[in-house]
Amino acid sequence: MKLLVLGGTGEARELAARADGFEVITSLAGRVQNPVMPVGEVRVGGFGGVDGLANWLQDNGIGAVVDATHPFAAIITENAAAACGQVGVPHVVLRRPGWSAGPLDRWIHVPSLAQAAAELPGERVFLAIGRQGVHHFAGDESRWFLIRAIDPPDGAMPQRHELLLRRGPFTLDDDLDLMRRYGIDAVVSKNSGGDLAEAKLEAARILGIPVVMVDRPPLPAGVQVVGSVDAALAWLADLTG
Ligand code: NAP
Repeated sequence: MKLLVLGGTGEARELAARADGFEVITSLAGRVQNPVMPVGEVRVGGFGGVDGLANWLQDNGIGAVVDATHPFAAIITENAAAACGQVGVPHVVLRRPGWSAGPLDRWIHVPSLAQAAAELPGERVFLAIGRQGVHHFAGDESRWFLIRAIDPPDGAMPQRHELLLRRGPFTLDDDLDLMRRYGIDAVVSKNSGGDLAEAKLEAARILGIPVVMVDRPPLPAGVQVVGSVDAALAWLADLTG
């Protein structure tokens, strides 16, 4: 059976490597200049909305779709649910669990990056949100920002900033050192979950620094969701009997 994995995450790469017996095609949006490539066939670029994806699924004889995109990639997740519904292709969303605050964490929950910008504490802010959405902070002239991303943001950036081009995983020592060196007094994070970028939260906890945590966008109504690659493989095994 042909399996489309909507990718751009470590889970998608792991699934592509472990989905024995399936002909896997991984789809990447093409945002990152040098992406870590999954094993197997890869296609790059948008499908052209819901109808484009529905046509692509039919034209390519896809038997199942696992949406293993990043928890903040809300548009492709909406589109995939709608397109699979339209053409009757079995579909599951693979979402790693989100992070949750412990008693020593100082998290400020916000529903969006725009709201994070409106509720920012501190004066020297570590913007650990990747390259998308940095423009929400561009009008803030009162603060200094440390921006860490794999590729440079393409929108506007705050006037006072330093850009660190880095790809995770990051260790606790890396992030403690970084936050101390730059005198960071607030962190902005999306609730991505997973191990690769969790160290900044632990470092903030140790240093007593507040974290503005952007909550995940909601999933489309009625979709089936699994929380791990193992569970996605079990879903595929059930599907094929
Ligand atoms: P998005 O806002 O949900 O999607 C915007 C458009 O990009 C979609 O309508 C679709 O274009 C295209 N697209 C997105 N993901 C695609 C994929 N895997 N394959 C083919 N087309 C895709 O997506 P995003 O937040 O920009 O994320 C883009 C990619 O980066 C995703 O693969 C995601 O897993 C990865 N990523 C995102 C984040 C994040 O914070 N958002 C972080 C790490 C990795 P069409 O409508 O033309 O089909």
